[in-house]
Amino acid sequence: MKSFDVVVVGGGPGGYIAAIRAAQLGLQAACIDEWKGADGKPALGGTCTNVGCIPSKALLQSSENYAQAGHHFAEHGIKVKGLELDLAQMLKRKDTVLKASNDGILYLFKKNKVTFFHGRGSFGKLDSDGVEVVVSGTQSESILAKNVIVATGSNPRALPGADFDEKLILSNSGALAIPEVPTRLGVIGAGVVGLEMGSVWRRLGSEVTILEALPTFLGMADEQIAKEASKVFLKQGLKMEFGVSISKVSPSKNSVKVEYKASDGSGKSLDCDRLIVSIGRIANTIGLNAEGVGLKLDRGFVAVDEHCRTNLPNVWAIGDVVRGPMLAHKAEEEGVAVVERIAGQKPHVNFNTIPWVIYTTPEIAWVGKTEQQLKAEGVEYRAGTFPFSANARARALGDTAGLVKFLADAKTDVILGVHIIGAFASELIAEAVVAMEFRGSSEDIGMICHAHPSLGEAMKDAALAVDKRALNI
Ligand SMILES: Cc1cc2nc3c(=O)[nH]c(=O)nc-3n(C[C@H](O)[C@H](O)[C@H](O)COP(=O)(O)OP(=O)(O)OC[C@H]3O[C@@H](n4cnc5c(N)ncnc54)[C@H](O)[C@@H]3O)c2cc1C
Repeated sequence: MKSFDVVVVGGGPGGYIAAIRAAQLGLQAACIDEWKGADGKPALGGTCTNVGCIPSKALLQSSENYAQAGHHFAEHGIKVKGLELDLAQMLKRKDTVLKASNDGILYLFKKNKVTFFHGRGSFGKLDSDGVEVVVSGTQSESILAKNVIVATGSNPRALPGADFDEKLILSNSGALAIPEVPTRLGVIGAGVVGLEMGSVWRRLGSEVTILEALPTFLGMADEQIAKEASKVFLKQGLKMEFGVSISKVSPSKNSVKVEYKASDGSGKSLDCDRLIVSIGRIANTIGLNAEGVGLKLDRGFVAVDEHCRTNLPNVWAIGDVVRGPMLAHKAEEEGVAVVERIAGQKPHVNFNTIPWVIYTTPEIAWVGKTEQQLKAEGVEYRAGTFPFSANARARALGDTAGLVKFLADAKTDVILGVHIIGAFASELIAEAVVAMEFRGSSEDIGMICHAHPSLGEAMKDAALAVDKRALNI
């Protein structure tokens, strides 16, 4: 039986990064992943690469380019005649982008000497020699591991009584591959996936209606940012209803009827050509033989401590299959930390500095606490905001929607949270993450030289605004 220091089950961002880091540290590493591409070949990268982060961002970019050409080029003095959408090419490009990531991970495995098994991994015997992992699939064999890292990710949650058929009722997978632009698109769930997918198809011409069970929009974001976002999205033509309760989803030959109770208690219905259901994800432990070996679960997630240790010796779990935010970079950080711990180091994952991003237009990004959280915790803070409409680069870009908001401790000025809605928020947030990792203050950001003209200057001005001394407003 082949034996390894570390066997990672799952080759998503958590798993493949863990395997590479293990190999870098001189450990014998293997990764088992069962995902198959359209050609039946391995498609490493998990949900993120195949039906998540990467393809969604490819389509967001393509659809944004289309919307810019259709609605905004004229402002710049560029006249476009005969603009046409070639959806098949747009989807093909998306597939090419994700395939490059699939192949890139295989290349990295070869480069770092990570042994890859294409198939399903499940727990066999656990004894003093180590943990047996049974691989079944393209290659079938048993291997022995000193340490196992479970990185099996998550699956989309279906609405009760409305299974995904990926034709009319779509999960994220179907939502990324609709072959023609639906005239009426329904979306259940106004979370990150619902908003991003709704934005893609809205820009391509669908009439999009989003139904959300919660009474407020983007409850996890800072309220001021969520309000701003709601204003902009409504202006873009996204229809949204909150506080709804879905009673029935009835697909017919070419359309879907959604019956629901509106927030005022009245019965309503929505007819659409396709329905995206994005109501969250369920941790995936299918086929692992978790029960067989007594791997403890907690509400479907693999139960872990703060270091991602499970109840079984030398068995760890990371990423979407454990508690915490379902984000690719969180999975990666946990993967690296677990492997470094196996190698005898003392790593630490700081959950308070994990950035969140929603890749709509404008983008939304934040790190740390929201204003409502600080109020609830009774923390004394000062806030500084700065609108992109007062930033020269944003004006030159023609992207003036949104603002930057800093929240800093009232006494020490240490940054407690930074919230951005605006162009390239996904990139700007990195400065805030660095500052918070170094326990920086708003004054620190205010004192740093930022290039002119740049969107980064809005970060500096918002930080200065904490002390009521923004320079450009
Ligand atoms: C539409 C969409 C957009 C998203 N966009 C973003 C984004 O922009 N940024 C972000 O940070 N996050 C985003 N996410 C979330 C992100 O995709 C996940 O948080 C991330 O993929 C989790 O990584 P993971 O390694 O834990 O699991 P996964 O990526 O789910 O990978 C798990 C892998 O394990 C394999 N597997 C499962 N069981 C077994 C088994 N028994 N044996 C072998 N293999 C197995 C699966 O086939 C899969 O390949 C998005 C998600 C969706 C759905």
